[in-house]
Amino acid sequence: MTARSTGTAYDYDTVVAGAGPAGVMAAIEASSRGSVLLVDASALPRNKSCGGMLNEYAQSFLAAHGDMPDRIVLDPSHIHFRYVDWDRSIKKPTELRFLNVDRALFDDWLVSLLPDNVEISGSTAVKGLQQDADGVTVDLKNGGKPYQVTCRNLIGADGARSGVRRALGVENVSTYVTLQDFCTLKDEIEPYFDCIYMRGIGDSYAYSYVMPKGETAIVGSVYYPHTKRPADKQNHTLNILRKEMPALGDSVRREASVALYVRATADVVPGVGRVLLAGEAGGFMSPTSGEGISYAMNTGVLAGKAVAENDPADAVAAYRRATAHVGSNISRKLRWLPFMESRVGKYFAGFVPTPIVSKVTKGL
Ligand SMILES: Cc1cc2nc3c(=O)[nH]c(=O)nc-3n(C[C@H](O)[C@H](O)[C@H](O)COP(=O)(O)OP(=O)(O)OC[C@H]3O[C@@H](n4cnc5c(N)ncnc54)[C@H](O)[C@@H]3O)c2cc1C
Repeated sequence: MTARSTGTAYDYDTVVAGAGPAGVMAAIEASSRGSVLLVDASALPRNKSCGGMLNEYAQSFLAAHGDMPDRIVLDPSHIHFRYVDWDRSIKKPTELRFLNVDRALFDDWLVSLLPDNVEISGSTAVKGLQQDADGVTVDLKNGGKPYQVTCRNLIGADGARSGVRRALGVENVSTYVTLQDFCTLKDEIEPYFDCIYMRGIGDSYAYSYVMPKGETAIVGSVYYPHTKRPADKQNHTLNILRKEMPALGDSVRREASVALYVRATADVVPGVGRVLLAGEAGGFMSPTSGEGISYAMNTGVLAGKAVAENDPADAVAAYRRATAHVGSNISRKLRWLPFMESRVGKYFAGFVPTPIVSKVTKGL
């Protein structure tokens, strides 16, 4: 790879960091301007810890990309979100309906949609960047080997712990600690995406979720930032759940990960200079429901369009305008959080009418 020697010679028109839904959508759109390099720190295909629930917005973004192969969709294919107040045995189904996918196969399929002028490089991490009025020089590392590439714009779609965001001098958003167990099923469980709230099992606990995934079920739990010994807490939570749900068998796989803990409008940062931030890297995620795939796809598309349709120097400003409504949506949701997370809110949550549950979670 050659370094940029003049103001106009670039290795790529656009470099995208991260091959998740934000990065792939950004790369697809940006490819209409010219060459794109898409790098991911993980080996590809990657395995992102996730419930794999695609909401109506994520499903509508996919409509433009043809039929999703059947093997990606798990049984039952569509499930409704149900709120569960564990202590009072209240179960409230909502009209929110999700497509149930295998997240690893889904991500791999997204990568297969990339056009030919997108070069893909797995196991390649962005380690730093320098930018000036002419473009961006990106420091990369592949298999221990450092090198640099130059581009007109860089799109950081590198997730919750974005190195691109940090390289811009912008602090990362704090993160929840998440654990997911894939449990065998001794019997069928009800076909819902259950979001379970329990009281009295410690302040570090936010909520759990249970969802059937073909032959197994995911039992996930979300803990507040800096939770100590989350694995012990997840064992405890699993024991409680198994007493009421004897169909949940042994855990065949456990994953630990993080999810954005968005708490302020200032957590949303669309970019700086010639560098755009999409998906979780930009702070784009629902603070009330933890849904991030639709936000990632939406902001990935908008970031890719911003670089494809504007002068490179104006792309961040155009993207900022294009994502203003997403920031407003996140701000609106943030207003519900203090109540949702208070003891009173958790106590009364079981009595909240389902249209309000939808209102708190809907929108992009
Ligand atoms: C346990 C859990 C369950 C979830 N369940 C759901 C769900 O059911 N439905 C839903 O809508 N959302 C869910 N989410 C959220 C959703 O997974 C994310 O919001 C979504 O994947 C964000 O997409 P993204 O493209 O922004 O980032 P990611 O999908 O996180 O992709 C970022 C990529 O960047 C790469 N990367 C990181 N650093 C670098 C670097 N320095 N250089 C290059 N590449 C780098 C990573 O390897 C990764 O592949 C869940 C999250 C968690 C943690």
